[in-house]
Amino acid sequence: MTDFSLNLNEDQLQIQKWVHDFAEGVIRPVAEEWDEREEFPWPVVEEAAQIGLYGVDFLLNAMGDPTGLTLPVAIEELFWGDAGIGMAIMGSALAAAGIAGNGTPEQVMEWAPQCYGTADNVMLGAFCVSEPDAGSDVSSLRTRAVYNEAKDEWTLNGTKAWITNGGIADVHVVVASVDAELKSKGQASFIVPPNTPGLSMGQKYKKHGIRASHTSEVVLDDVKVPGSCLLGGKEKLDAKLARARENVSTGKQPAMATFEATRPAVGAQALGVARAAYEYSLDYAKERVAFGRPIIMNQAIAFKLANMATEIDASRLLIWRAAWLAKNGQFKNGEGSMSKWKASETAVRVTEEAIQILGGYGYTREYPVERWHRDAKIHTIFEGTSEIQQLVISRAISGLRIE
Ligand SMILES: Cc1cc2nc3c(=O)[nH]c(=O)nc-3n(C[C@H](O)[C@H](O)[C@H](O)COP(=O)(O)OP(=O)(O)OC[C@H]3O[C@@H](n4cnc5c(N)ncnc54)[C@H](O)[C@@H]3O)c2cc1C
Repeated sequence: MTDFSLNLNEDQLQIQKWVHDFAEGVIRPVAEEWDEREEFPWPVVEEAAQIGLYGVDFLLNAMGDPTGLTLPVAIEELFWGDAGIGMAIMGSALAAAGIAGNGTPEQVMEWAPQCYGTADNVMLGAFCVSEPDAGSDVSSLRTRAVYNEAKDEWTLNGTKAWITNGGIADVHVVVASVDAELKSKGQASFIVPPNTPGLSMGQKYKKHGIRASHTSEVVLDDVKVPGSCLLGGKEKLDAKLARARENVSTGKQPAMATFEATRPAVGAQALGVARAAYEYSLDYAKERVAFGRPIIMNQAIAFKLANMATEIDASRLLIWRAAWLAKNGQFKNGEGSMSKWKASETAVRVTEEAIQILGGYGYTREYPVERWHRDAKIHTIFEGTSEIQQLVISRAISGLRIE
């Protein structure tokens, strides 16, 4: 067990600076362009791969840090640069986390690297859970996986909605129902390897924010994968299904286990956006003169900034605590959800206040704060909405099945 400390170690300080320099020098100058284009920013992701920021080694090293803080620290800097491009760089991590959370060591070794490829051949991963009729309610997934014992082969059918990197990814991790009666206890995760026939991209969504990140439907039409693509293996699945049929607790569900572990990281994404808007509006408030004095000299503006700074620090403390707990203990009171909820709501409020501080300029696309406001909002929706985070927390603190 590692002690919790607010002092970053040498490695973490180096990584923080390294990611910050990339965010400032490479991401920020092109953030507006990729937001307008609403396309996946391949050249930026390729540059990130060249320096090792986009790659399975970076992710595994960061995730292997015993304090848990390296990943949120790096993500905060990345998303300070831009959230859309940040998601393009981080999107594959969700697939890799799904594999790491549910796969055997051999499956992790085989498939996690393929979610990234190499510096010269960048590949992408996608984690496919949500469906048109099942977002928060993951127990209602309609995507089915049917096993053919003679061929040791699974057939997947269904449609996934709002999938980051959906259809353009090389590796799709798909959560499907193998026994619909058991609801979420009857689900399993599958690897769909690159170029598997039957998997295609449905509609590509036009979004409010994080527009450089690709989000699409994924259509699975008689997609056949070998038995070895069932994450965790058949024996483990059969045992889990047997326990579920006997109504014995089966522990965490595949999708939920992945989301729980990644929530502090999603909080860190929101934190990066909030900090960007806070820093920008603080500088602006010192420069902008109205009624003969800088607008920050009015308490109405200074207090907004004081509030923004405090909420940002509170969010970071919750994120670091959750990240540390995830490595060195376990969540007792929904601490992962607390961190994600607090940081994402903070990002929405802070970016809105930033627009207010910039006044008319803040509302135009000439200044970045309106983009940050649009980018902030997604964090209250994906990987569990704010309402679902509150559900998780209230169940954890009460021990009751709050609905
Ligand atoms: C840009 C983007 C990227 C995404 N990327 C991925 C991805 O890579 N992989 C993936 O699997 N999914 C992804 N998603 C899907 C995302 O996780 C879902 O949109 C999210 O979980 C919410 O589900 P929903 O949209 O069906 O909303 P719903 O579940 O329909 O919720 C609608 C509203 O009702 C509220 N609500 C629902 N149930 C309750 C309840 N029990 N109590 C209180 N309030 C409730 C919600 O909080 C929300 O406000 C992405 C979504 C977006 C927009």
